[in-house]
Amino acid sequence: MDLPIVFHPDYVAPLPPGHRFPMQKFRRLQEVLVADGVAHPCQFHQPELPPLAWLEAVHTPEYVRAYREGTLDPRAQRRIGLPWSAALANRTQIAVSGSVLTARLALRHGLACNTAGGTHHAFPSYGSGFCIFNDLAIASRVLLAEGLVSRILIVDLDVHQGDGTAVIFQDDPRVFTFSMHCEVNFPGTKQKSDLDVPLREGMEDDEYLRTLAAYLPDLLSQVKPDLVLYDAGVDVHLGDRLGKLALTDSGLYRREMQVLTTCVQHGYPVACVIGGGYCEDMESLVYRHSLVHRAASEVFRHYQG
Ligand SMILES: [Zn+2]
Repeated sequence: MDLPIVFHPDYVAPLPPGHRFPMQKFRRLQEVLVADGVAHPCQFHQPELPPLAWLEAVHTPEYVRAYREGTLDPRAQRRIGLPWSAALANRTQIAVSGSVLTARLALRHGLACNTAGGTHHAFPSYGSGFCIFNDLAIASRVLLAEGLVSRILIVDLDVHQGDGTAVIFQDDPRVFTFSMHCEVNFPGTKQKSDLDVPLREGMEDDEYLRTLAAYLPDLLSQVKPDLVLYDAGVDVHLGDRLGKLALTDSGLYRREMQVLTTCVQHGYPVACVIGGGYCEDMESLVYRHSLVHRAASEVFRHYQG
């Protein structure tokens, strides 16, 4: 048994004009995972389009319908920051299913990774910051509704605050939201997660990892989640054009090992999504995203194998 990885064949298909960036990275990530031997085709699980009820478990029916049909008003569309197309509407819904599937696989096997997901800036009635539907929130609500879990911890280490997720679960004690992010970064107006750890601009590997170590173990013993949803955004990297923190590749790998080991060795299942990452050098960016799959494969072999 190897690490289950959720794979999106629709991201591999050629992209229509206007979607070169930031969609291209998903396609390349899948190629690199296979080419580098991190993932074998037998490890892949493919999601299907989600039922409408899943999207509406978090988002308003009006917003879901307008986005799916491409009838959002221009201002709402600009706030998302991606040009609408039927292909994008399709992909973004499948990415949501991908995170639901990743969460189910994590419950079954202890650890699983998506090759997309982490759209934490999506709010119930609007999208923002390249995020359309909130896959972390939808996966949480679906699994809670099915009675598969009763307590979830969202560990959001993307460099941007998980503002949409924080608002969605602000009155829901079943989901604990933890966001560690750069304090001076987007979104300009921060929301209130159950635990926010704002970091100063320019923070490097050792201080970042020490800060994480000061919170995560206690949080796990306090929340005792049935499932951890981990947003492994790589926009904390020194070379990220939106990040404002200064982690290196090795710091990122250490972060992924730290999160996954801390959770898995204490018996907490983890579902990973890739989160944000922005860089003109596609190969470097894709390598950064692949670090969570590399670390997860290692941890999976050690604890599950
Ligand atoms: Zn981000």
